[in-house]
Amino acid sequence: MTDRITHLIHHPYQPPAGFEAPQPGVFKASTVFFPTVAAMRSREWKDKSAYTYGLHGTPTSYALEERLATLEGGKECLLVPSGLAALGLVALSLLKSGDEVLLPDNAYGPNKSIVEGELMGWGITHQYYNPMDPEDLEAQISSRTKLVWLEAAGSVSLEFPNIVEMVRICQRRKVLTALDNTWGAGLAFNPFDLVPGASSPVAVDVSAHALTKYPSGGGDVLMGSVITRNPGLHLKLKLTHMRFGIGVGMNDVEAVLRSLPTIGLRYRAHDVATRSLAAWAQTQPEFVQVLHPALPESPGHSHWMALTGGEEGKAAGLFSVMLDSRFTQAQTDAFCDALKLFKLGYSWGGPISLVVPYELESMRTIWPEHLLRGTLVRFSIGLEDLADLQADIAQALEVLR
Ligand SMILES: *Cc1c(COP(=O)(O)O)cnc(C)c1O
Repeated sequence: MTDRITHLIHHPYQPPAGFEAPQPGVFKASTVFFPTVAAMRSREWKDKSAYTYGLHGTPTSYALEERLATLEGGKECLLVPSGLAALGLVALSLLKSGDEVLLPDNAYGPNKSIVEGELMGWGITHQYYNPMDPEDLEAQISSRTKLVWLEAAGSVSLEFPNIVEMVRICQRRKVLTALDNTWGAGLAFNPFDLVPGASSPVAVDVSAHALTKYPSGGGDVLMGSVITRNPGLHLKLKLTHMRFGIGVGMNDVEAVLRSLPTIGLRYRAHDVATRSLAAWAQTQPEFVQVLHPALPESPGHSHWMALTGGEEGKAAGLFSVMLDSRFTQAQTDAFCDALKLFKLGYSWGGPISLVVPYELESMRTIWPEHLLRGTLVRFSIGLEDLADLQADIAQALEVLR
């Protein structure tokens, strides 16, 4: 080696091994080197025994995968570029032409778009079940049903289903279950052990999580995870993940690794503030219904209590209100526009409080009987001072008075 540039590119310096610091290092790669052709040929990419290509992981992504699997009570984890990609990966991997998938009618909207806009064209049919009626779910299971999606609490309307009963039904009928675990985040309950101490475990098969929300906690990263306990199921998902090349960037992985240690503190703080604001919202005459699983009047409260025990730190940072039906959508929009600290924006889990008015009618196949008629507004509570947030909602309510 005579050329200085070649020397630069193939520089022999190796920093000493054994560096330790609070955060794992950020290892970025497409190419990964092998010492010999034999090693290249024989190296295993289906597990974490070594490294083969950046798409299949580096020490950085392995660390996040292991930590997330621990958080959610699972064994294996795959990282994907968004929460929605996690939902998509589950469908891509587990459903084939001729199969049917069941979703709760309050499923995360874009998951409904996957089944309606993509899967239908591939000969995969779907049905929506009433999330508050396990019998309705059971009645819709047929020999073609290969996957049942669960969500607790439900998107936007936040009713809490009896997922224990629904998982038991699916286990009995030998249908795979996938939970969108973004709301629970691995903190409200353990999806792989829903009834601790049960003689046979009540467990979902797959937990999909939008890390974009609480694990990131900053409103600045998109990422998702797919967690399982069953090695065969993990391998099936991993093969699909590899074939389609659904990888993540290590700078984003680092951002999630950095936030993850504080997820418990943040989730609890969001929960405490949200419960308090939701209880106060119940005293405001313009709000005819307040939806939050910890409120005794909220649909499915008893299921949430039975599953979580109801303690602080088990209920995330979302609540929705139904504005009296005498208010038009335009008035509801004006109320949202009048909020100052609450920003208009999708997603949640970050430090800034957010608000979105939803036209629920267009999002459900039927208007849920447990919801009063009106216009719905969803709040996501950030980490601001509680009194400031309450004052902001109070001043915005003036536009309705
Ligand atoms: C946000 C969210 C997703 C999607 O996450 P993205 O990272 O925004 O794609 C999926 N499910 C639920 C319940 C969510 O709230």
